[in-house]
Amino acid sequence: MKKTARFKKFFNFTQTLTLLLFSTFTMAQTIPLNKLTGQFDEKKDSDFIALDSTQLPVNKKGMYLQKEPTQQLIKAYNDFKKVHPNIPFVVVSATRNYTYQNGIWQRKWDSLLSKINKPQQIAEEILKFSSMPGTSRHHWGTDIDITSVSSDYFRNDKKGIILYQWLQDNLPKYGFCQPFNEGRNGGYLPEEWHWSYKPIASQYIAQYQAQLEKDPQSIIQALNFTGHDQINLEDLVKQYVLMVNADCY
Ligand SMILES: [Zn+2]
Repeated sequence: MKKTARFKKFFNFTQTLTLLLFSTFTMAQTIPLNKLTGQFDEKKDSDFIALDSTQLPVNKKGMYLQKEPTQQLIKAYNDFKKVHPNIPFVVVSATRNYTYQNGIWQRKWDSLLSKINKPQQIAEEILKFSSMPGTSRHHWGTDIDITSVSSDYFRNDKKGIILYQWLQDNLPKYGFCQPFNEGRNGGYLPEEWHWSYKPIASQYIAQYQAQLEKDPQSIIQALNFTGHDQINLEDLVKQYVLMVNADCY
């Protein structure tokens, strides 16, 4: 091999290596794993704001959301109130971190333990409406539940029907999508109340997906809730995180 050819080869190799290191570095930097899995304190994070310090109606104190989705949600709320002043539009859930979600999971696991004896079935039963800690979109600070967490309200109550129609027709204009819509082949049951701020949440799901493909163990090892070692954890994580409305990608 001529000296120049060898140099070229070496140069190409270095270039590839630099690119690879750079892309790995930037990806790892985009959204850290602890943010993807909710292992942080939203109350101490400067990207987040307390909803009870804004004009948004909330059903309890101490709920936080990232600042940009909060601003967009306030605009949506004000526009909704102009046309439907008497219909409730209340944030009933916002950011829930890993510790909070773990509390929900533990409570449901304990109560199902006496009725169902297979851990996988217990998990699947909980997953109809609640996430495994570390896999909830509520970890991201981009997702909210509005007014009621009952499908019955949005399907059969007059006010619920009007609210849901308005949310579907208008929330996308403010950047929100409905991740748990009708017609998916898996994942959570439909949730009319759950809306997600796509410009940021789409980055979270893209990174979650990339990480699950590239190095699933990095995520799986971070999930140590009750039952994690008795269920098909990786399959469940993939199904429940990724099987959402295509509009939310
Ligand atoms: Zn929700």
